[in-house]
Amino acid sequence: ARHIVLQSRPTGQPGQDNFRLEEFDLPEANEGDVTVRSLYLSLDPYMRGRMSDAKSYAAPVPVGGAMEGEAISEVVKSRHNNFAPGDIVRGRTGWSSGAVINGDQLRRVETHGAPITTSLGSLGMPGFTAWSGLKFIGKPTQGETVAVAAASGPVGSMVGQLARLTGARAVGIAGGAEKCAFVKGELGFDAVVDHRSDSFASDLQAACPDGIDVYFENVGGHVWNGVLPLLNQFARVPVCGLVAHYNGAGSADTDQLPATMSTILRRSLLVRGFIQTEFAADHFDEFLDEVGPRVASGKIRYREDIVNGLENAPEAFVGMLSGKNFGKLIVKIAE
Ligand code: NDP
Repeated sequence: ARHIVLQSRPTGQPGQDNFRLEEFDLPEANEGDVTVRSLYLSLDPYMRGRMSDAKSYAAPVPVGGAMEGEAISEVVKSRHNNFAPGDIVRGRTGWSSGAVINGDQLRRVETHGAPITTSLGSLGMPGFTAWSGLKFIGKPTQGETVAVAAASGPVGSMVGQLARLTGARAVGIAGGAEKCAFVKGELGFDAVVDHRSDSFASDLQAACPDGIDVYFENVGGHVWNGVLPLLNQFARVPVCGLVAHYNGAGSADTDQLPATMSTILRRSLLVRGFIQTEFAADHFDEFLDEVGPRVASGKIRYREDIVNGLENAPEAFVGMLSGKNFGKLIVKIAE
């Protein structure tokens, strides 16, 4: 089989030279193990954290170790009672063309009839992140304004569409005209603002005439600076991700600690970070039952950015950190 290993730890923006494609032999399958061949690999912003040995909520990938990640696979051989050859499963099999993994760590792909790739995006971890962050922290109500950045991506697109289903007003923030047109036209957000524009802060203010009641934080950086003055009293801020900061420490532009803390104080904000695994064991099935049929019927929309070939994963991943992806980034590994 083939997999991609971490060649070296990046400083700042990672490059393709931080990765290496390698051949390896699959280990012997023990009782309970399942042998799979990978079909689709999910690339996600959190993987930047795994490349670094800075303290985080999860252990880093060791240098020379295989990159971690979740993929959809087909079962080739099974020594586990729940799985048989031909089953389509998802699990953390890494940036790899195949794997031997204990069946207890696999989940059958269940999408209510939507394409299987949605189990990596709108009906998988990112969609669940959006749903749980809104349900348990953001709690938007009818008539409130919900703002979210990375709005064309799998988390942001779900945040805005779920917010609208509760009767809230959804304001998206995205990079560039094409993504903005998609967020408003295809995803049906009430308004969208381009964060790459020089007039971003005033455009956002114009798009939020009643302020912001829920800001679902995906990016940080200059977007946070634009959001901060617009937050209403008792606004909720689920802190989900800070992709603008993942490639390095802050800059003068991103260091807004005094302004941030004084706004939290004066406006009585609720700022609550979360990692979706906190909610997944108890609520993933509920999410799937609620959102699955809506994605399958087209009521909730999504976009996928599918790159061909495991060898192209590093380039696609590096591009995502600066917004080169357009929709849920997935690598197709095999038919
Ligand atoms: P996306 O597919 O949306 O990709 C990331 C996007 O971030 C880019 O496409 C780009 O969109 C935007 N972006 C990158 N740099 C900047 C910047 N400097 N300023 C503003 N926007 C920027 O990613 P996901 O939907 O998978 O993830 C969204 C966020 O959710 C990430 O921060 C991720 O880490 C987080 N997350 C957190 C989880 C948790 O459990 N807490 C679980 C899953 C995801 P554009 O071109 O529109 O700017």
